[in-house]
Amino acid sequence: MRNVIIVGSGPAGYTAGVYTARANLQPLLFAGPEPGGQLTTTTDVENFPGFSDGIMGPELMEQMRKQAKRFGAEIVFDTVEKVDFSDGKLRVWVNGEEFQSKTVIVSSGASAKLIGLESEKKLMGRGVSTCATCDGYFFRGQELIIVGGGDSALEEANFLTRFATKVTVVHRRDSLRASKIMQERAFKNDKIEFAWDSVIKEIHDVEEGRVTGATLENVKTGELTEKSVGGVFVAIGHKPNTDIFVNQLDMDDVGYLITRERTMTNVPGVFAAGDVTDHYYRQAITAAGMGCQAAIDAERYLESLEG
Ligand code: NAP
Repeated sequence: MRNVIIVGSGPAGYTAGVYTARANLQPLLFAGPEPGGQLTTTTDVENFPGFSDGIMGPELMEQMRKQAKRFGAEIVFDTVEKVDFSDGKLRVWVNGEEFQSKTVIVSSGASAKLIGLESEKKLMGRGVSTCATCDGYFFRGQELIIVGGGDSALEEANFLTRFATKVTVVHRRDSLRASKIMQERAFKNDKIEFAWDSVIKEIHDVEEGRVTGATLENVKTGELTEKSVGGVFVAIGHKPNTDIFVNQLDMDDVGYLITRERTMTNVPGVFAAGDVTDHYYRQAITAAGMGCQAAIDAERYLESLEG
């Protein structure tokens, strides 16, 4: 019987790891399918306090992992495949093995959303990508498309211009959702163009097994345009990683976990922190803050069990 199991290894999970380890609770942390979480797919993080010159996302996460480990968090690079919180016990399965814990902190984050085209699926990793940081390097000297109008799309568009000759931002509306500072940067970058009111109708060429171009549709006029590009990057937001918690924890229509009091879920002893429960702020620093809150809530809950 563990004191604390932490599900996920983004800023929320690792911060919960640091705090529960320092509270001498010997946390067991399952890192999940994307160790380090979404920040491992970004480049410069310029808004995490404490790094006046910025820090690379993967480096920040590596530091958080080391910090949690230094205080005794047990970090396992496996994925929780099933949970059962139904009979008063908190049970978690990893590779078919069952673990029991007095508390569970869910910090499983969110994952990239896809457009939903068959060609997108078939060409994923063959020119279609959801991670500019991971894959941008492979597109040196090519023209690229990035889909989306939020901060992610513009940040990645800027990043991709380090490699690409031109990046076209394909956005379904005529105004951007991204913050003003990101918009200004993108508008100033002469390698970035915008295809407004446009969606991707098809990505080519599935038969060839690589991206050679895309058909864009103007949603206002219906006009179709062929674009010759070497890669399509999708940056249209994220979906919370909560499939294993369906029928176990309360969630909203989209799947974000609902907390009742502070970080507590509807199940006593189960806490939620970070993007898995927060679709509003979605920042590394807010996720880390919530990881800290969940750790303190778990610690106080354990104290209350001891009476
Ligand atoms: P987001 O803000 O939700 O933006 C998603 C974009 O994709 C929107 O422009 C949306 O269009 C578009 N979209 C959604 N579904 C689509 C579909 N099926 N087809 C075509 N387009 C679609 O997501 P995000 O950009 O990933 O940002 C998430 C959060 O992280 C935000 O709070 C953001 O500020 C933050 N963030 C911050 C930074 C930074 O500060 N450096 C960097 C990255 C992200 P509509 O606009 O029409 O809805």
